[in-house]
Amino acid sequence: MRNSFDYQGFNILKIRPIRAMILWPGFPYIFQFVMLAVFISLAIIGWGCFAPKGVNDKLYAKAHITNLMVWGLWWPSMVWGAVLFGRIWCMVCPPELVAQGTERLARILGVRQFVLGKWLRSGVLILGIYALIQLFIAGVHLHRVPAYTSLFLWSLLVIAGIVGFFFKDRSFCRGFCPIGLLLSTYGRGGMLAVRAGSDQICTACTGKDCIMACNRNKFYGRSCPSLLNPPKLNSNRDCLVCGQCIKSCKPDNMQLVLRRPFHPADAREPLASWPVTIFIMMISGFVTGELCSEWSTAQSVFLWLPRHFTEHLKLFSIEGWIEGLWMLGIYPLALWLVLGILTLPNSNTASLSIIKSWRLLALPLIVIVSTGHMAKGLAKFTSWLGFLPYALKDPFGIKTVSGITSKTISQPLPMLSMPFVSVIGIVLIITGVYFSIREAYLANPETYHQRLVSKCALASLFIFLVTGWGFFQ
Ligand code: SF4
Ligand code: SF4
Ligand code: SF4
Repeated sequence: MRNSFDYQGFNILKIRPIRAMILWPGFPYIFQFVMLAVFISLAIIGWGCFAPKGVNDKLYAKAHITNLMVWGLWWPSMVWGAVLFGRIWCMVCPPELVAQGTERLARILGVRQFVLGKWLRSGVLILGIYALIQLFIAGVHLHRVPAYTSLFLWSLLVIAGIVGFFFKDRSFCRGFCPIGLLLSTYGRGGMLAVRAGSDQICTACTGKDCIMACNRNKFYGRSCPSLLNPPKLNSNRDCLVCGQCIKSCKPDNMQLVLRRPFHPADAREPLASWPVTIFIMMISGFVTGELCSEWSTAQSVFLWLPRHFTEHLKLFSIEGWIEGLWMLGIYPLALWLVLGILTLPNSNTASLSIIKSWRLLALPLIVIVSTGHMAKGLAKFTSWLGFLPYALKDPFGIKTVSGITSKTISQPLPMLSMPFVSVIGIVLIITGVYFSIREAYLANPETYHQRLVSKCALASLFIFLVTGWGFFQ
């Protein structure tokens, strides 16, 4: 019999207030409602707002509450939250509430709802949407213009509503959510997990309320709305930590465990699917670009080729889009060609091609990529956080930016010094290397050593860039 502490981690439902909160009928709906109110308020405040003439759009983004909250504070927190605690954001996510609401409405109205097809479940569309958003960030500075951020927020809610109306079973989360792949890949090793306790209790359970389709549309104690099999749950990949299976389990056998990172009992896929592999390739390019953005010399080297190309062909009006294509497409392809080649001499399988090595490398490498992303998130969070008191007083940021440009108010300093952030970043990436090697080992103990060089190469690049933030400029 499995011991809940030794084997899986500590079941935090043993802590009474947490248990009461998860079993409370208002959970997670009330939290989602509150987040929805914040989400809509930010979308309304950002509507139609552009940087005043002569003001740098990056400064305005920090001063305007919509961009400050979404891109400066929520986004880095979401990255940290996913790596440390799995899909914890999904617990309180507003678009899920909207999609759930319209899914219920369509059912009441008798609308015939579709089942999510296989290709949508594979994550292909999510990959496309994520790439598009990143291109908009590079091309039109979606993350720096409150009007565009507002449009982005409204679009998320509208699309969630439409998908929920026409598709059943949490389809927005399973096939459309732009951050679905990011959360499922970053959150795999998260320390918070929903897991069944004793196998015997599940085997003897006759009700199976956590699976029964007749419970799916309840408000309280639904069978898993994501169509997972809670008694057999062995990965954080798709679980939104909504707590419904915990509520539904009459024998009280579902647990919310706090455990060590990358728990060895979790299932590991030796070969990532193609959408996941391409996503990880793309995000490795994005994270490299983000790490370079904190060190001007590295950034000018990283963007030398696309900028040279833009200058040569006088394509200045689409410079950002070209840089986006470089960061998300061309550079990752070149990087992964090198990483793939580095795996070949160590391979004892003659047939191992570079293409196959990408699929083998992807999931262990995402651990290093995610720690690089955490480092960048920390740098951003600490340098934007000081603007929060100004943004709370002046949500539109107009007085703040005019005060800063006329030097009547001083620009807030980062909360942590750059050398300190660099050191934390280096520690994070080294920790990522350890877990990445361990992940490859747990997925396949016979071949894990073949990809050591590639992992070390990517980690060295990231460590070099992060060191540059605090010590080379
Ligand atoms: S998958 Fe996306 S939409 Fe669904 S709960 Fe998570 S973040 Fe929200
Ligand atoms: S309802 Fe509880 S005990 Fe029954 S199968 Fe589901 S998790 Fe196991
Ligand atoms: S397994 Fe449980 S917590 Fe996870 S998504 Fe399904 S119902 Fe929610």
